Amino acid sequence: MKRFVFLLAALAWPFSPALAQSPYENLTVEQIMARSMTELAPGLYSFGSFGERSLVVITDDGVIVTDPANAEHAAAMRAAVAAITDAPVRYMIYSHQHWDHVLGGQIFKEEGATVISHANCVAHFERRPHPELVMPDATVQGGEVIELGGRALRLMYFGRNHGDCLLVMQLEGTDVLFVNDLVTPYSVGLGFLPDYDPGEYRRTLLELEALPGWARMTGNHGIPVAPKAALNQRRRYIEALMTAVKDVLDSREYQGEALYDAIELPEEFRNMRGYDRHIRRAAERIAYYYGMGW
Ligand SMILES: [Zn+2]
Repeated sequence: MKRFVFLLAALAWPFSPALAQSPYENLTVEQIMARSMTELAPGLYSFGSFGERSLVVITDDGVIVTDPANAEHAAAMRAAVAAITDAPVRYMIYSHQHWDHVLGGQIFKEEGATVISHANCVAHFERRPHPELVMPDATVQGGEVIELGGRALRLMYFGRNHGDCLLVMQLEGTDVLFVNDLVTPYSVGLGFLPDYDPGEYRRTLLELEALPGWARMTGNHGIPVAPKAALNQRRRYIEALMTAVKDVLDSREYQGEALYDAIELPEEFRNMRGYDRHIRRAAERIAYYYGMGW
């Protein structure tokens, strides 16, 4: 097998200095931003470029990719696959409906790949069409297995969490869970919690922690792979944030912007990537969750 790894200059990414400040020794700019194919287990890879990640399964009979992201990412991923195998890409799966993951898949459609998403994604695609979006050829409900070349990729659905059509995936025979946008390791994520239902998100993370048979996670952003503890940390962060905001609201001592000034989480969470940048908007989002019920 040929290896496909090349690094982009870190300076090409305008936010690289902030990323370099992470207290976690495994979080280097190169790991987060590099255009690279990382083997997570035999036949299982994470392809990353400019902060976007896709899952790749390579078998003797063909290849499964997820999340083309955009035409540039998709073309680079196709080249990375070609550096490993001559087998065709047979399936392209959308992990969920957001445009930062589903655009640019024409290159895989043109080579004959079957495009798959959760059934609930279709309504989003029809409501907000995009010229660079390839519509799914087939939809799933969760619980299905994509079998190819003696391997089996299990598709799982946990209901509403980040959007309402998100598929968690696991290649059978590996200990790696693909949780896509649910967790970026050691990061707080975007402050306004885009398209997250906080309560259902917390429930989903608890269900994933209780799911047997996995020890490592990979996602759509950040470093290629992290231990299960990274998902546990994100769940405890959300719980700490929700508790802190609820306490401040219940105290009735703060109003308006002062409410968000009053939020400070324990040091472990303050050390997560993006805390200083996102915590106020995260607190505001949770305040609306409690105050308005959404
Ligand atoms: Zn998303």
